[in-house]
Amino acid sequence: MDNPVYNRIILKLSGEALSGDRGFGIDEKVIGEIAGEIKKIRQIGVEVAVVVGGGNFWRGISAEGMDRTTSDYMGMLGTIINALALQDALEKIDIMTRVQTAIEMRQIAEPYIRRKAVRHLEKGRVVIFAAGSGNPYFSTDTTAALRAAEIEAEVILLAKKGVDGVYDSDPHQNPNAEKFHSLRYIDILNRGLGVMDSTATSLCMDNKIPLIVFGIDQTDNILKVVKGEKIGTYVKEE
Ligand code: UDP
Repeated sequence: MDNPVYNRIILKLSGEALSGDRGFGIDEKVIGEIAGEIKKIRQIGVEVAVVVGGGNFWRGISAEGMDRTTSDYMGMLGTIINALALQDALEKIDIMTRVQTAIEMRQIAEPYIRRKAVRHLEKGRVVIFAAGSGNPYFSTDTTAALRAAEIEAEVILLAKKGVDGVYDSDPHQNPNAEKFHSLRYIDILNRGLGVMDSTATSLCMDNKIPLIVFGIDQTDNILKVVKGEKIGTYVKEE
């Protein structure tokens, strides 16, 4: 099984995945490893767009006493820091990239333009989407769903740190937690499973975008997923 089963994917990397064991900021070694994993899937011809989170710097909802909109903009700025760090790590290993931001920041990145993003992908560049959707009250998971629909990605790969799929309860708290191998979006909503927020879940469900939730801690997992190996949890419409 050497050929990828997907041509175009969205990889969602949470801020946490980039911070390694520190839980805050960026771990350069970890980001270098993730870049190496992305290179492997580029080398087998997969078009890769990445949506980066920002929770390693700031989460809008966590700020107490601050205006929510301001706090969310701070979170979006965090995603831009992550995007630039990932761009740097990818370019160091000769992967061409473009960062596109949903909030204009022309000196450091292109503004998000769907047609340009698609063109970059066709030319083999990794496109990194930063600043989320550009709107407060949204998440980068919702952004991943939105961008996947817009650029017609076949799947969203939700790479998780410290967990290898979706469980019926928190596997860190409950040793008997059971992992789902497949799941429907409606089950995530009905059971309140903490996979993605409900806005992101609904957007994927309504637009029939499959999602694979898997652990990023093991080497080659991204490669395995794009080759169709059944790891993690596969989420689909029905
Ligand atoms: N954010 C936002 N709108 C978006 C995407 C993100 O306001 O479209 C803000 C929000 O405050 C969020 C923060 O950016 O908490 C970081 O994004 P997220 O929490 O999704 O990052 P992750 O959990 O994936 O690291």
